[in-house]
Amino acid sequence: MIDTRPREECCGCASCEAACPVGAISMERDPMGFLYPKINHEICTRCGLCDKICAFHDVVQRDSDPEALAVRFSESLRKSQSGGLSAALVKEAISRGWVVYGAAFREDWSVSHKRAETLSEAEGFRRSKYVQSDMEGIPSAVLSDLKSGRNVLFTGTPCQCAGIASLAGEKYRERLFLADMVCHGTPSPAVWLSALRRQEKKAGEKVTGVTFRDVEKGWHSHVEAYFFGDKKQVDDAYTYLFYQHMILRPSCGSCPFASLSRTTDLTMADCWGIERVSKDFASDDRGCSLCLIGSEKGRDLLEAVLPGAETLPLDVRKVMQPNLEHPSDLHPLSSSIENDYLRRGLDYVIRRYGNLSLRYRLDRFVAKVKRHL
Ligand SMILES: Cc1cc2nc3c(=O)[nH]c(=O)nc-3n(C[C@H](O)[C@H](O)[C@H](O)COP(=O)(O)OP(=O)(O)OC[C@H]3O[C@@H](n4cnc5c(N)ncnc54)[C@H](O)[C@@H]3O)c2cc1C
Repeated sequence: MIDTRPREECCGCASCEAACPVGAISMERDPMGFLYPKINHEICTRCGLCDKICAFHDVVQRDSDPEALAVRFSESLRKSQSGGLSAALVKEAISRGWVVYGAAFREDWSVSHKRAETLSEAEGFRRSKYVQSDMEGIPSAVLSDLKSGRNVLFTGTPCQCAGIASLAGEKYRERLFLADMVCHGTPSPAVWLSALRRQEKKAGEKVTGVTFRDVEKGWHSHVEAYFFGDKKQVDDAYTYLFYQHMILRPSCGSCPFASLSRTTDLTMADCWGIERVSKDFASDDRGCSLCLIGSEKGRDLLEAVLPGAETLPLDVRKVMQPNLEHPSDLHPLSSSIENDYLRRGLDYVIRRYGNLSLRYRLDRFVAKVKRHL
């Protein structure tokens, strides 16, 4: 049954909850804030649909590499994380009267997927939030839009897109447009909220804005910026735990979607390595998206937005990055870190494993010495 699978085999996409014909599945949060399905066995009829719908092992194999291009929308660069492709696709979809789904902050700065029909409703989708977004109730809403005859653009991680594709099935796939991203892994929602509260405690006031990568410092920047009115507090404690794979969802370590064989119509990513392909393109360090074309309808949607962009067709093999080849390796101490976080809190974890640890400071020192040799 779906609720007896190991944690490593559930990405929390919530499609099983939507698929259950008798409403026996609810999504429950574990202490790290990750959602897992729970079955009410008193009403479950054991039809097996939840197992069938589970997208986690339903991986498409492609024989050839996808067509790829670098793309950037100048007017979006400072407002987006990389080249602004996502916002352009959302704008086009809304102008066509489609429904759009994407990840946005809630009032308490947790992150969830939301539905939008207007540009102002979709504004919050801009920029990557490096935390697992809450999908509860979203697959049902997408299915209901598709059933009522609407076209839907869904943006999200590859596993979230796979869950939606599996739920929609062939019947609705023609009206469903999926745009996923190359994904490093999704960190714990509980740790994210602790990190945010830690900054509020430091500042002695409530956060009024957040960005996970401070684009003012350039596209390559990997520090969080927390805003308190006009004031900005920059910190990399959370980012460090994220990039060291210390706080990722357990299933991220065995993600079956970390390859060039994608299930989606379009794939978006940071075009890391663009400087190896073109010195001029994106030389101003303001951001550049990589786009992989997964289907003909993906290509049609992309072509509609390209007149507003600078583009450069390229060979994807020249801009490969780790998560296009394999999943992130979870940190070997992930379980201890989780236990320590739950028992002793985030400050302890940061001091012991994070950017206040002896190890971190030693590594920084060695790197500095090497730079001066
Ligand atoms: C958890 C995570 C890990 C990532 N890892 C990588 C990586 O290893 N390599 C890489 O090249 N790119 C990665 N990305 C994607 C990258 O950061 C950009 O989001 C992507 O290139 C699109 O940029 P953009 O400028 O077009 O749009 P932006 O405006 O920057 O991004 C907005 C889009 O991202 C979606 N989104 C934002 N946060 C989330 C979330 N928490 N869950 C699901 N969807 C979300 C929104 O729905 C919207 O479609 C990751 C994104 C996330 C959320």
